[in-house]
Amino acid sequence: MKVAVFSTKSYDRQFLEAVNAGYRHDLVFFEPRLTRATASLAQGFPTVCVFVNDELDADAIALLAAGGTRLVATRSAGFNHIDLDAAERAGMAVVRVPAYSPHAVAEHTVALLLALARRIYRAYNRVHEGNFSLEGLLGLDICGKTVGIVGTGRIGAIVARIMHGFGCEILAHDVRPNPDCAECVRYVSLDELLARSDIVTLHCPLTPETHHLIDAGAVSRMKDGVLLLNTSRGPIIDSLAVIEGLKSGKIGYLGLDVYEEEEELFFQDLSDRIIQDDVFARLEVFPNVVITGHQAFFTHDAMTNIAETTLANIRDYETTGACPNLVATQKVAG
Ligand code: NAD
Repeated sequence: MKVAVFSTKSYDRQFLEAVNAGYRHDLVFFEPRLTRATASLAQGFPTVCVFVNDELDADAIALLAAGGTRLVATRSAGFNHIDLDAAERAGMAVVRVPAYSPHAVAEHTVALLLALARRIYRAYNRVHEGNFSLEGLLGLDICGKTVGIVGTGRIGAIVARIMHGFGCEILAHDVRPNPDCAECVRYVSLDELLARSDIVTLHCPLTPETHHLIDAGAVSRMKDGVLLLNTSRGPIIDSLAVIEGLKSGKIGYLGLDVYEEEEELFFQDLSDRIIQDDVFARLEVFPNVVITGHQAFFTHDAMTNIAETTLANIRDYETTGACPNLVATQKVAG
């Protein structure tokens, strides 16, 4: 199948081309994000392959449909960047990669946690400059702490098991509790989780219900000095509320792999430019905040799995008109 691959970085091309030797799709790589402004590049392509910061809103989908696109294959688990109702109206199928390596994301979450708890980012820079002072590096034990996990699907369940191994008490909140977590997790209301957890970590999808789930009210209900982690989707956190929480000391540590307005920032080298996003710039200067640029998924294993499943999804849909990884219009999963 002829496929227009958007948001292509060198690493996407590397993994997709290697795996495509076994599929022989006609892959054409485009660097730009897919938006309504770039959708015309897909003219004549029956399939577009997209990633998390592409914007498949109703206008972009109408343009794609007019150009002959019938299948959207996203190289991600989340699909909040695609207007599913518009896709359905346009007769366009959407396929995704439901699980490529939940371990990659769970392990990155724990990496952020440990970097914050032991100030690894500060220590690295100091030692590099020959400064061996311990002032400002005081850490905290993880063992014995209470960890609150919001969303115990594939990724949240692995975080639960890892943190259980650290000797933590695990509280969880989920609209559909996961029986696989029963051994190490106690399900509670979101309010109880926020009130009792020393560490809060977000692993639910972005939906209308979870947009700004962590707002000023939620921050005020958390323990003083809480360590907050978000490797799920940026808009689950209200950045301004979290900045106020950091300024007041309510939030003691913040680890982010995702950010509300990341589309204009992440996945590109902006080191020679002036960052125009003042909210992001404010977050960046706190000494107790670590931000990575949506890299939790980015392991060799996960990239291979993403390429494999994406190309298999396209083949399945092309040959049978069906695919086990078809996204239903009901926005129930993430
Ligand atoms: P999943 O679908 O397996 O699990 C999501 C869980 O959240 C489910 O158990 C679901 O019931 C629960 N949930 C849904 N709505 C909820 C709500 N309102 N409150 C509490 N829980 C709710 O998904 P997953 O594979 O574990 O991935 C979780 C999220 O992680 C994805 O939606 C995606 O946004 C994000 N993600 C980020 C990266 C990254 O690189 N940073 C990579 C992959 C996925």
